[in-house]
Amino acid sequence: MRQGRHFLQIPGPSPVPDRVLRAMDMPVIDHRSAQFAELGRAVLEGSQRIFQTSGPVVIFPSSGTGAWEAAIVNTLSPGDKVLMVETGHFATLWRQMAGRWGVDVDFLPGDWRRGADPAVIEERLARDTSHALKAVMVVHNETSTGATSRIGEIRAAMDRVGHPALLMVDTISSLGSVDYRHDEWKVDVSVSCSQKGFMLPPGLGFNAISDKARAAAKTNKMPRSYWDWEEMLKPNANGFFPYTPATNLLYGLREAIAMLLEEGLDKVFARHQRLAAATRAAVNHWGLEVLCQEPKDFSPVLTAVLMPPGHDADQFRKVVLDNFNMSLGSGLSKVAGKVFRIGHLGECNELTLLAALTGVEMGLSVAGIPYRAGGVDAAMKYLEQRPQGNSPAHLKVVGS
Ligand SMILES: *Cc1c(COP(=O)(O)O)cnc(C)c1O
Repeated sequence: MRQGRHFLQIPGPSPVPDRVLRAMDMPVIDHRSAQFAELGRAVLEGSQRIFQTSGPVVIFPSSGTGAWEAAIVNTLSPGDKVLMVETGHFATLWRQMAGRWGVDVDFLPGDWRRGADPAVIEERLARDTSHALKAVMVVHNETSTGATSRIGEIRAAMDRVGHPALLMVDTISSLGSVDYRHDEWKVDVSVSCSQKGFMLPPGLGFNAISDKARAAAKTNKMPRSYWDWEEMLKPNANGFFPYTPATNLLYGLREAIAMLLEEGLDKVFARHQRLAAATRAAVNHWGLEVLCQEPKDFSPVLTAVLMPPGHDADQFRKVVLDNFNMSLGSGLSKVAGKVFRIGHLGECNELTLLAALTGVEMGLSVAGIPYRAGGVDAAMKYLEQRPQGNSPAHLKVVGS
């Protein structure tokens, strides 16, 4: 039996705010009733504001993986060529899924230490003069490495070479935490889910869909039933779903959207940047290495930290869990045992973060890992500065 609240500092599922938990504590209602239609309309319209789109958003009762599959089966045909980028573990899994559906993936190799390079994508598309590539598929925030890809720049690269491929983006761990603009960046399918920036329990998958993607869905040859967008969009027009929706998660979604909009998306994004910068200040002070090597790509959502040689990250995570009741993210596949990940997304503020960093620093000491004490102090010094905009002139925010 452990006293106090468990610290869930993994980059998804993220902690669910009390306000969202209370909003979900409701009787299940008839999903064919007028009362439900009001909820349905509210969450479908609210989701559009979070994706920054005026086009349709569909919500499946599924994990993010299901929403990945929906993006593929609604737009592509077996044998289609697509371009994907090896940003890390999640990009690799999405690639594998596309392969299972008979899609021919050109996988740009990566070293798992940065986001996708828009220049490399541009060069590859420029060579595809016959326009054989039907889609460019990128993970916005690679949750396994803590590196983001610059989607606006990737769109600009596609426009420069005039390539007509669809742009499909996994925004699963970035939406609601990192600036993301479905319409402005002309993304065709944005894929997301509930348990990361939306601060909900797992169980909802999202696709935001452009006109071009919807047109592709009219002629593509992939079999589908449960994931069919048109089956969803018909009843959605009146606030309904084609089958029993995850009603209580939708109550939570309505509340989570309200929280994000009350704070203001710009402030939400700035808060994540600030907490991430404070985390890096601590990691740098400890003398440990951040996995992401490209400052422009540092993730606002999580920080992956490399263990010093000869020390096992999972052993360290176990020490932190056993001693301080805090879960840190594990290293996945290629970086298993080599990195641990600190989640700083969603329901997280200065003091939550400082407590988490304190747990990491104490864990380093207990586990006998070489480090320089004072990382939490470095994070405190950073966070003592007020957020940009209302900061006194003598305190400049640095390093974000
Ligand atoms: C979590 C995550 C997924 C997988 O989502 P599930 O809900 O576990 O299916 C996919 N991509 C990214 C970037 C993620 O962070």
